[in-house]
Amino acid sequence: MTTTYTRDYWESALSGLTLEGRNFIDGHHRDAVSGETFTRIRPMDGRPGAQLARSSAADIDAAVASARHAFASGVWRHKDPAEKKRIMLRWAELIRAHGEELAMLETLDVGKPVLASLNVDVRLCADGIQYYGEMIDKLYDEIAPTGPNARALVRKVPLGVIGAITPWNYPMIIDAWKLGPAIAAGNSVVLKPAEQSSLSAIRLASLAVEAGLPAGVFNVVTGHGEEAGKPLALHMDVDMIAFTGSTEVGRLIMGYAAQSNVKRVALELGGKSPLVVFEDADLDAAASAVAWGCFYNSGETCHASTRLLVQRSVQDRLIAKIEAVTKSDIALGHPFEPSAQIGALIEEAHMEKVLGMIAAGEKEGAKRAFGAEQVMSETGGYYISPGVFVDMTNDMSLARQEIFGPVLAAIPFDTEEEALRLANDTIYGLAGAVFTTDMGRAHRFSEGLHAGTVWINTYDMSNFATPFGGFKQSGFGRDRSVHAIDKYCDYKTIWQQFG
Ligand code: NAP
Repeated sequence: MTTTYTRDYWESALSGLTLEGRNFIDGHHRDAVSGETFTRIRPMDGRPGAQLARSSAADIDAAVASARHAFASGVWRHKDPAEKKRIMLRWAELIRAHGEELAMLETLDVGKPVLASLNVDVRLCADGIQYYGEMIDKLYDEIAPTGPNARALVRKVPLGVIGAITPWNYPMIIDAWKLGPAIAAGNSVVLKPAEQSSLSAIRLASLAVEAGLPAGVFNVVTGHGEEAGKPLALHMDVDMIAFTGSTEVGRLIMGYAAQSNVKRVALELGGKSPLVVFEDADLDAAASAVAWGCFYNSGETCHASTRLLVQRSVQDRLIAKIEAVTKSDIALGHPFEPSAQIGALIEEAHMEKVLGMIAAGEKEGAKRAFGAEQVMSETGGYYISPGVFVDMTNDMSLARQEIFGPVLAAIPFDTEEEALRLANDTIYGLAGAVFTTDMGRAHRFSEGLHAGTVWINTYDMSNFATPFGGFKQSGFGRDRSVHAIDKYCDYKTIWQQFG
């Protein structure tokens, strides 16, 4: 029987939901050592949500000790690969079976529409765990060419204890991007989710143990960045930090690694991705790609297409089409409304920051075409309507800074050369796109764009088989694909001489 998801359905499901806010260490829920907690405020209506453990270095020490013990004992990494695969596939199935619950936890924390949480975030989280689970019994080591009297095995071995620090915009998906390859490779993980979005991570950990993952292989410690994230990144017994978040904090993480045990670091950071539209493009397709690329998830997407570079001759026509698509297709609403395509921003302070950036942009002369205003304030939640600024130049703050809200900066250009120069004139290099019917130009342009992912006549296509990550100050290291496994491993050479 198919469920009809109405607002009443989710309201009544919410009343029966347990909000578990304790850490998950060594297979068990635990209060913070200090006993302290903090309250998460729900972005959908500004009301108090879950109580979460306010963790500190002592909690990180306990989680790292448990992760190290699990790794050293070999309880996971030495298990038969077929059995490890079965456990990860069971975990993925449990995530699917608890999809509605996980979707609700995610929406309560981050304010996105619950149907997006269910159909996108939960689905991709489960798919990610499954993708890496399936890989476990298909990974081979190497034998290097040597003389006849010797053999050199080149083994790919797990690093040990991985500290994962994740952001709040797609919590479950990004957690799976780290957990899948790190755990499939045989490591143990201590995850510090963003303080705004811990509930789904805690539930993922208890489901992992239910699926058969040994205690200690996956631990979750909640709390603030300075209080829990920093001690994890500084920890002398953590072998690597896999970080997704802002460039500003990414810089700190590199410093912590250098100050402590020179642990490895992989950084997935911010973006200000250009979407370039030439006058020969299919403008309807481009308008839809721009609107969804920039406004999906209320613009809280690292690779959002926040800079539209448009050939001057079609700027007005394209903006009119973007406005039409936005108003007809991208409904903003309460996250429990089935019609809502986008919901609330993550928290009041972030909404104020976005509004402040919009005001500063207008002071610099940014011209508003539509939207980009606070709306639904009567709900107590934090909502901004999708909006576009036109006739911008690439040196204006709205065109340079990562806003992380539903705000598009449209910058006109005249020639292909100018478009490429403007597209690459940013500190970031996460993603970009080009829309044109001239395939020669499309390929020339995609070669010239300095970004980890480039789309031609589309935006935001992705799957697990493709690596994702950035150039320049968007970071280094790649999530997704078979290559992500390499990030969590190192090579070990074993020589043997015969005779
Ligand atoms: P953030 O402020 O950098 O926080 C990310 C994580 O780092 C959070 O868990 C945070 O904890 C923690 N943290 C903060 N200060 C820390 C410190 N001193 N030491 C250790 N950890 C610390 O980023 P955000 O606001 O959550 O997320 C938005 C950013 O993530 C954007 O810049 C976006 O572009 C980027 N992002 C990038 C990708 C990608 O794949 N490239 C994907 C998604 C998001 P608290 O929450 O407690 O502060």
